[in-house]
Amino acid sequence: MSTPPQLSATLQSFETGNGRPGRFYSLPALEKAGVGPVSRLPVSLRLVLESVLRNCDGKKVTEHNVRVLANWQPNAERTEEIPFIVARIVLQDFTGVPLLVDLAAMRSAVARLGKNPKIIEPLVPVDLVVDHSVQVDVNGSADAFGRNLEIEFQRNRERYQFLKWGMQAFDTFKVVPPGIGIVHQVNLEYLAKGVLSADSTFNSQPSTVYYPDTLVGTDSHTTMINGLGIVGWGVGGIEAEAGMLGQPVYFLTPDVVGVHLTGVLQEGVTATDLALTVTQMLRKAKVVGKFVEFFGPGAAALPVVDRATIANMAPEYGATMGFFPIDGECLNYLRATGRSEEHCRAYENYYKAQGLWGVPRKGDISYSQELELDLGTVLPSVAGPKRPQDRIELPKLKESFVSTFSKPVTENGFGMKPEELGRTFLVSGDGQIADGGGSQEPVSAQKAQLQNTNPQTEAEMANNHPTPDHTTARRRTFKSEIRNGSVLIAAITSCTNTSNPSVMLAAGLLARKAVERGLKVDPVVKASLAPGSRVVSDYLSRTGLQPYLDQLGFNLVGYGCTTCIGNSGPLAAVVEEAVVKNNVVAAAVLSGNRNFEARIHQNIKANFLMSPPLVVAFALAGRVDIDLAHEPLGEGKDGQPVWLKDIWPSLGEIRDLMQTALQPDVFRKLYKDFAAQNPKWNEIPSSTGNVYEWDGNSTYIQEPPFFGSFSMQPGEIREIRGARPLAMFGDSVTTDHISPAGSIKKTSPAGKYLMEHGVEPADFNSYGSRRGNDRVMTRGTFANVRIKNLMVPGVEGGVTRFQPGGEQMSIYDAAIKYQQAGTPLVVLAGQEYGTGSSRDWAAKGTNLLGVKAVVAQSFERIHRSNLVGMGVLPLQFKEGIPQCGTQSLKLDGTETYDVIGLGPNLMPQQDLTLRITRRDGKVENVPVRCRIDTPIEIDYYQHGGILPFVLRQLVAKA
Ligand code: SF4
Repeated sequence: MSTPPQLSATLQSFETGNGRPGRFYSLPALEKAGVGPVSRLPVSLRLVLESVLRNCDGKKVTEHNVRVLANWQPNAERTEEIPFIVARIVLQDFTGVPLLVDLAAMRSAVARLGKNPKIIEPLVPVDLVVDHSVQVDVNGSADAFGRNLEIEFQRNRERYQFLKWGMQAFDTFKVVPPGIGIVHQVNLEYLAKGVLSADSTFNSQPSTVYYPDTLVGTDSHTTMINGLGIVGWGVGGIEAEAGMLGQPVYFLTPDVVGVHLTGVLQEGVTATDLALTVTQMLRKAKVVGKFVEFFGPGAAALPVVDRATIANMAPEYGATMGFFPIDGECLNYLRATGRSEEHCRAYENYYKAQGLWGVPRKGDISYSQELELDLGTVLPSVAGPKRPQDRIELPKLKESFVSTFSKPVTENGFGMKPEELGRTFLVSGDGQIADGGGSQEPVSAQKAQLQNTNPQTEAEMANNHPTPDHTTARRRTFKSEIRNGSVLIAAITSCTNTSNPSVMLAAGLLARKAVERGLKVDPVVKASLAPGSRVVSDYLSRTGLQPYLDQLGFNLVGYGCTTCIGNSGPLAAVVEEAVVKNNVVAAAVLSGNRNFEARIHQNIKANFLMSPPLVVAFALAGRVDIDLAHEPLGEGKDGQPVWLKDIWPSLGEIRDLMQTALQPDVFRKLYKDFAAQNPKWNEIPSSTGNVYEWDGNSTYIQEPPFFGSFSMQPGEIREIRGARPLAMFGDSVTTDHISPAGSIKKTSPAGKYLMEHGVEPADFNSYGSRRGNDRVMTRGTFANVRIKNLMVPGVEGGVTRFQPGGEQMSIYDAAIKYQQAGTPLVVLAGQEYGTGSSRDWAAKGTNLLGVKAVVAQSFERIHRSNLVGMGVLPLQFKEGIPQCGTQSLKLDGTETYDVIGLGPNLMPQQDLTLRITRRDGKVENVPVRCRIDTPIEIDYYQHGGILPFVLRQLVAKA
């Protein structure tokens, strides 16, 4: 690395506190050198600036980049991109497996070129936590954890074998195996260091350079780490791969919104209530794409675990980050979670030397905008039933549910008739409760009955409910009444809350008091407890609270995402059938962060986010249409009503137990040799070698074709001629429409492919778990059952018309026919194309279907960059051109398209022409803007994407 001379003076020394000096790139020295008013910058931006300064080599990162960021103005127009080289990368398994597949494919390509495959090696540490694959197949029993883990290993064996190959093949790639925890909680409790160091030489003497811990992750809630003063956010897999291989992550210089916190939380109010309040407030403030930084005395007084709960929900309030500065609370947390004393001293001294110690006060920093929140005004809350920003004060939940029930769907309601609200249905049986893997085979022994107590619709159900194929069904007799508003899932889940001992202990305390008063949870409620680390089980057991949770059905089901990601597993068959048959608006209550329709469970429509103790409370109540201020939770064993306030734990009770929760020795013990403590993981055989031996028969892992015909010579940028539209979409097509993560239909091209390869529908698993197989994923592209292609009006799902002729067929089949005919393809879309979670397969699948350009009215930021990263050209209709398919352009998909003006001298944001030739031969030229936005992106596009670009650079250097 060669730092420009003017900046090299910023490399200075500081006392680590451990008897030897450390070196660091000093931000105060940068300011002193007159480069910019650095000390007025938001803390989060200063941490990014340190990376830009330290990595300034005049090529990837230039002195200009340093100067621009050092002179950030709170309210300037945002045109400059920041090249950010992060210190490390975290992955979860859904996104991490395909990423490892790409790295393995690059190694295969390098080997085919006769070079050393080891040149493909992550340049920064990469940690993958396997957390997204566990499902709640079994719940409510002492063996639920072990059995769910067993089923998880059966379902995912091939993926796990592949991960083990990756662990031995790459020096800097580590895996936290299944059954240990959730990526963001493991990051907070173990992976994050706060400050990092690297050996270096200075004046020919060995020295150690210290620098801030920064990261990107392939999961949107990576922001949870912002609660510990660490800069990091979620990116797509393609960006993460590029980051691993030494490319900066590029992002537009952001606005930074300061949120001034004052006051303290009142008795009875939890960190979850605060996070939901902040989410609602910041959604309204429109912080999308901005950094949010919390400051002021209220922020300083919050412990790190509460800060992390708020930071976790940054994607829900729309911010890139929800950042808390670095201070003594961070240090306390690092100590309490078992980080070494030597490390903690270096951490404190480093940030003091950087002038970054302490939570800023009002006036210290120039923010783009300042907002105020008095923590004393926060009230107990829930959010839902469909969006995390729709906060409801607890006493108003009943009223809110009743009104949402009959509100039109267009107003976020359920569109039901008010008179249906009170209908009840009796479900009874000795069928299995939420147990097993979901085969479609009948249960011969099941004697389930379903009675509708409404005489007009009384029905008896056939005995053809799903039963487990992986486990023996566990039977429990139950007889319950369900109705609109019944709670059918109650899940203590999600790193958002399970990383916070105050709310987890509150749940345990509430459970204890409920059991002591004789309250019970109806067995029709599928209760579960899925903490984000084993530390939670340790303190729930040491405080004696777990047995009370067990008695209410909140037995441990796994250490992973479970219900939060929709892996809630099946409901009891009779219950699910009653819900579907009678269109019941049933409810889930969970301590998660997202509740979009069908995310939690496909047949549960009303999903409410809330704190863990409230999850237990609503499980006890059994319904959400209850006003807990005026109605009791139930009747105690003494026949007396038990109210929520009777069993709600006090702040004092929680505080008394908190000391038990954060024990450094426990963290050290549980995060030591966790792989060795996991016999199932150790039993998985692993292949060895630097190059992966692809198994052509695997339905999970296949070598993707991205580097199949790789050569060192990139192609030329040329005009696109004679393209046909593969599909035409309206506004707000999400990445989940483009590349769904959920279940695979038997009749879909992916389902047919799997069956042709001997996979039974019961073992399809999800698209998310099949992302290591491009054959499944390409067939799954645009295969969401809800996607609406305007070329086939009135039909939902991944179908199109093959032109000319207009034959209706699946999008995949049409793409193959076009490929065989050598016809390039385009996709046309409306506004906000590619919104939703960053999903690299949405761009990869588009590329593999043969789509050369996507023409839209506007693009979501990450998806646009992912398209370029995969060599697909994003084109934007210039302002004033209405959406395709409307009166103005009158497109119906029978046209052919040329992109004129594309050539070797292509410039970022260049104006181009989309030439449309209609069926009758009429030609129209429509102006479009090329949304390749930066010079580096031109390189990526020319090379056919980021990965071939990086690969050519690495091979050229080898
Ligand atoms: S628990 Fe939920 S928020 Fe946390 S990583 Fe898993 S899916 Fe994401």
